[in-house]
Parts: sequence; C-alpha cells; structure tokens
Amino acid sequence: MASVELHNIHKAYGALTVIHDISLSIEDGEFIALVGPSGCGKSTLLRMIAGLEEITDGDVSIGGQVVNSMTPRERNIAMVFQSYALYPHMTVAENMGFNLKLSGETKQTIEQRVNEAARMLDLTKLLDRKPAQLSGGQRQRVAMGRAIVRNPAVFLFDEPLSNLDAKLRVQMRSEIKALHQKVQTTSIYVTHDQIEAMTLADRIVVLNQGKIEQQGTPIELYRKPANLFVAGFIGSPA
Ligand code: ADP
Ligand code: MG
Repeated sequence: MASVELHNIHKAYGALTVIHDISLSIEDGEFIALVGPSGCGKSTLLRMIAGLEEITDGDVSIGGQVVNSMTPRERNIAMVFQSYALYPHMTVAENMGFNLKLSGETKQTIEQRVNEAARMLDLTKLLDRKPAQLSGGQRQRVAMGRAIVRNPAVFLFDEPLSNLDAKLRVQMRSEIKALHQKVQTTSIYVTHDQIEAMTLADRIVVLNQGKIEQQGTPIELYRKPANLFVAGFIGSPA
C-alpha cells in the first residue's frame, strides 16, 4: 500500500515556481532519499508533506487520504531537522515526552514510550540530563527519540546529520539505518550527501530545479544514470 503520495505538486513563491509538477508514490515502510543540489526544492517539498508550507497546486495523500487541509499534527508525521531545537530548560526525558504531553497522553504512557525510545537509541542513562550536557550526536538522538515516541506514520528528515562532524555522521547513519530496520516507519530523508543516500535508501529520488531527474534503487542510479547531472550527483563513472 502507498503510504505517501504526491499528485502533481506545484509550489510558487510569488512569480518564482520552485516545484514543478512532482508526482511520487512511496510504499509503506519504504526509505526514500531525496537528493539534489542546494536550492533545488528539497526542503520545500518536505515542508509541504509535513503541512508546514502551503501547496500551490496538487495533492498530498497519506495512508490513502488527502491531507492538504490538515494541520501538521493531524497528519501524524514526525520531522527531524538539522537544528535539533531541543528545549534547553527541559531534561532529555521531558524533551522526548513533550509532544505526547501536548496530545494529552497520561504520565504513565509518556514514561513508557520515552523509556522504550531511550532503549532503542541508547539514551537510557541520559534521561535526566539537560541538552547543554550532551554531545552533538546525543542531541541528535534525542531529536530522533522525540520523533519516534509519537509512533508516526511517516518520518521526514531534513539533512539531520549536516551539523555533525564526519566521524559522527558515519555513526549516526548506521543508527538511523538500524532504527528504520526496527520500526519500519516510512521515511523520506533529504540529504545532499550521496553516500548517505546510497547507504540508507531503498530508493533515491534525484531532484534538480524543482523537478525529478530520475528515481531508482541506489544500484540502478549508479549503474544507469539517466543523464550527466545524475551521474555527477551520484558519483557514478558514466
Ligand atoms: P533545498 O532544500 O533543496 O536547498 P529549498 O526548498 O530550501 O531548497 O528552496 C528551493 C527554492 O525556493 C530556492 O530557490 C529558495 O530560494 C526558494 N525559497 C524557499 N523558501 C522560500 C520562501 N519562503 N520565499 C521565497 N523563496 C523561497
Ligand atoms: Mg534544504
């Protein structure tokens, strides 16, 4: 079953069209990497799926239902950004449970889900710390924890690792992969790092100037890039 569907999506800021007629169908549990150069429209597309940006034309469906007029909360989506945006005055546990509290979950449910997510992300010993007492990688894990406690239908990642150093990026990449294997949540992962895309994704969608240049498995794109742009971007020898 399709989990997320984009039907003829357009986006314009005034006279400037930044997304041109994008259609895409993402299967339940699939991990999609959305790649392309800076300014090609990756974040705009993600924000429209999340409901943080108005769609100029077209429909977004989640679980078979058109969600254009739903709020971000109603869409049951969790988004992880590069800036962790943790609340500095709250502990790790409070940060992770905050959205559940807003949704009116009981204290017991919140504690149970936070503990479960903390175990998955190796945060159990850090639950009482404040964000300032954490490393960059730990903060990123808390941001992911905050997303998974809500048990969302879809994860949206917008270059979540771009603030981390190279070594930590490699480590976090494996953690994201392991997490996806555990929870199997449909994921759309924006990155301009082709290695990240190649190692994480079931399917890569290459975006250029607001249009899809090509989509396929990492191997397909590497072996048969449709054009020089894709070849250059994926780093294949063609
Ligand atoms: P990416 O995430 O791929 O780097 P973005 O989606 O952020 O690209 O931006 C796509 C295009 O839309 C860029 O040309 C950018 O300048 C433009 N853009 C993004 N947000 C706005 C905005 N709020 N107002 C006007 N133009 C915008
Ligand atoms: Mg962006």
